[in-house]
Order: sequence, then structure tokens, then C-alpha cells
Amino acid sequence: MGGIQKFHTNKTANSPILLDIIHSFLLTFNHFPHLAVPEKQGVIVNANLTFHVVVVGGGIAGLVAANRLVDVGLSVAVMEKDRAFGNFVVCGEAVQKWVVEELGISARPNLISQEIKTISIVHKDRKVSIDMQDIGFIINKSAVIKWLIDRVVRGGGNGFSNTRFISLDRDVNGGFSVKAIHRGIKMTIKSDFVIAADGMASSVANALGFQKLSGIYGVNGLIHSNAVPDGEIRFFVGSEFTEGYGWLFSKGNGYANLGVVGENPEDVTAKFNTMMRNFRDVSILSYGRKTIPRGLRSSVALDGVLFVGDAGGFVEPVSYAGIWGALRSAQMAANSIGKFYDGALRDKKEVSRDYEKSVNSEFRKRFQLEEIAAGVFKKMDGRDWNTFLDIVEDHTGNKTEFNFGPFNVARMLLFDSRFRRILKGKVKNGILSIIQKIILR
Ligand SMILES: Cc1cc2nc3c(=O)[nH]c(=O)nc-3n(C[C@H](O)[C@H](O)[C@H](O)COP(=O)(O)OP(=O)(O)OC[C@H]3O[C@@H](n4cnc5c(N)ncnc54)[C@H](O)[C@@H]3O)c2cc1C
Repeated sequence: MGGIQKFHTNKTANSPILLDIIHSFLLTFNHFPHLAVPEKQGVIVNANLTFHVVVVGGGIAGLVAANRLVDVGLSVAVMEKDRAFGNFVVCGEAVQKWVVEELGISARPNLISQEIKTISIVHKDRKVSIDMQDIGFIINKSAVIKWLIDRVVRGGGNGFSNTRFISLDRDVNGGFSVKAIHRGIKMTIKSDFVIAADGMASSVANALGFQKLSGIYGVNGLIHSNAVPDGEIRFFVGSEFTEGYGWLFSKGNGYANLGVVGENPEDVTAKFNTMMRNFRDVSILSYGRKTIPRGLRSSVALDGVLFVGDAGGFVEPVSYAGIWGALRSAQMAANSIGKFYDGALRDKKEVSRDYEKSVNSEFRKRFQLEEIAAGVFKKMDGRDWNTFLDIVEDHTGNKTEFNFGPFNVARMLLFDSRFRRILKGKVKNGILSIIQKIILR
């Protein structure tokens, strides 16, 4: 990457002294490399820290982007408001096989809890199971995040935990001054680009005056129970789960993620408690509630600020799976920024446009279709769900149709006249034929 080397020497304002300071902090905090700047030294106050890219938010999205940027030789600072990276996650942790491969963690069993061997769909007292192979995993997300920040720091990037983004100003030269509070002390970091990876309630979006994303609530509890078979992920569907579904994802050795989504905090907590009552001898080890975005932002970039992961709304409307969206959007944002330093894109506007283009081609149409599907599932009654399970049961022999991708499942359903009958009452004819054209092409 010749262009990047050139940029390093000519354009970046990182002075060798500052790099030395940062480096010595990293050595001092060798055991906790992400706690890069101890506030007692006081140097972060008014320090002129300058990087190519500031990443706000140290979840999967922020850290995937940071790793990619560090890998191509750019200077990066990740700021995370929590006291440590990967401190506490609220997530079902189910991901497709390709996500594990892209994250580079396939050969790291300590970061993966379980391989998915069986998918079950439960409606009231009926359960249909499909034996699967090679579709996905339940990861240990907290460990993955810790591993990712470690990689960023080892690659020469910087991680500031306990650092809350506050505001963003544009400098006269077009760069950014990013203001944050690190353990009660104000700090300013300068950068050419900002990646907003700070989750659904993005403070960066607020600072830019962007609209708030609409969302729903999700709870997940880590439980231990004799009733959870290893390798199984279970989805609960039906009228009790009008906003989607409930889940029970085995993490192995009797541990599992149990969760559900709902319109409001009380509703979702009540649903979770009802699900808990179905278990005997269950202990709950941790529990958390979080909002999940519904729908992509209409614009995911603005003159050098690029939104990734939940901050951009990259969560599937049917399954609420967002880890793959966090991963792909982060990769795409980092690629667009990389093209600028390579000389392929001229300015921040072009970078933003390039990123928007990638997002449009990979996400927008797919999510629009999924929103329609989510609307259909919401309208299905008990009889419809039984028909749905009949169809699934008829296909349990053909595993590729359930390849953990909504498109495969949609194709299977649309080929079935019983499901097309369910759809007829719920989707306008015109829209139905468009969906069929796209999915069955
Ligand atoms: C209950 C539940 C279950 C889920 N289950 C699954 C699942 O099984 N599979 C799946 O694929 N997806 C699942 N998802 C969705 C998935 O967890 C998210 O889409 C994904 O983790 C988003 O990653 P992210 O990095 O964009 O955001 P986050 O993980 O939210 O990370 C954002 C980070 O930014 C930090 N931050 C926020 N504000 C600031 C600030 N002002 N300054 C500095 N830092 C800040 C936060 O502390 C956080 O660490 C689930 C979500 C929920 C709520």
C-alpha cells in the first residue's frame, strides 16, 4: 500500500514523541492493553492526539473496522465508554459459519461456545427439529471482543476504554476534533475520519442531528439447566411472540442463552419470566436488556463520518441477527476509507458515497424484503404457525434449505402452496409477485 506509506509521512500529524508516549503507556498497561491512557499521568488533557480514524464504540462493528484499518497501516483510536472492552454483552451469540471464518476465529475454540447441530422450532407443545451441519456457531462474544481489541493494539492501534464520546467538531482543514470524557477527564482526539460504531442509541448520530433509529427491546439471560441439550438452538414462535420469536441457544455443558424480543421493557421482561417458568432446576447467571434497531438508516455516511453495525441499523428485520451486519458494514466502511489513502477516492464525500453504494447493494433491498416478511410473521395466527411447522417438517430431510439464511428459508416457503395461501391474506398481490420474482429467480 504505497499510498498509505506516503500519507503516513506527509499528512499525519502523529509526532514521534506522541507515539512514544502512547507506546510507553501500552507497555505500562501490558496486561490490559486496551486501558491505553492512565488518567493519573494527566497527559491526555489538551494532548494533541491525532489519528487517521477515530472509531467510536468498541463492539464487534468498531473492532472489526479498527482491525481492518490497522492491517492496512492506518493509525486508529477506538474509544469505548464501558470500563473494559467486552465487559458485558447482551446477545444470543448465534452466528453463521462464514461469520466465524471472516472474524478469523475458526481455529480458536476458546472464542466459540458451541457448534450448532440442531435447529428446532417450537410452537406451543409442538417441536420440529432439523439436524444440521456446518451452518453456524454460538460464539463467546465477550471473549471475541477482548481478542479483537488485543489484535488492534498488537497491530499498533489504540484502545481507550472508560472513554465516552461527547461531541464532534469539524476543523477548518476538514478534519474532526472528537471530544470525549476519559474517567472524568476531557480529552480531544483529532482524526481525518470517524467511524460511528456506538450502537443503536448512537451519540455520534445525535451529535450530527441524525434521526433516532426506531427499535425494539431484547433480553438475554445466560442460564444453566439440565433441560438444554448440547448443540441445539431452539426458536419459539406463535402468538406469544408477536414481535418475532423467543430463543434458547445451547452454549454447551448445560449453559444456554435464553431470550426474547418485545415492544416495551415491561412486556419483554414479563415474556422472559414466562419462558423461565418452563424450566425446572434452572439458574440464571447473568441477564441484560438492550434495544435492537429496526431498519437501516436512510443515510449511513456524511462527509467522513461512517455508521456501522447497530449505529447504522444493520440488523436483519426478521431474525434480529446483527453480528454479520456489524461485521460486513465495518469491513465495507474500512475498505472505503482505505481507498482514500490509496488514492482511489479523492475526498470525504467520495468516501461516503462509496460506502453508501456498497451498503445499498448488499443490504438495502434485502432488508426491505425482510421487513415485509417480518410484517407477515407478525400477522400469523395459531393455525398459520401450525401450517408453517407442517412445511418445515416436510423439509427436514433437505438440510440445505435451512442453511441458516433467510433467503433459503424464504425460497422453501414460497415454493410451497400452503405458505402462499397464508401470504395471500397478508400481503398485497403486487408486492407478493415482486417478492416471488426476487426470491425465486
Ligand atoms: C437480546 C439480543 C440478542 C441478540 N442476539 C443476536 C444473535 O444471536 N445473533 C446476532 O447475530 N445478533 C444478535 N443480536 C444483535 C447483535 O448483538 C448486534 O446487532 C451487534 O452486536 C451489534 O454490534 P455493534 O458493535 O454495532 O454494537 P454494540 O455491540 O452495541 O457496541 C457498541 C459499543 O459502543 C459503546 N458506546 C456506546 N455509546 C458510546 C459513547 N458515547 N462513547 C463510547 N462508546 C460508546 C457501547 O458501550 C458498546 O460497547 C442480539 C441483540 C440483542 C439485544
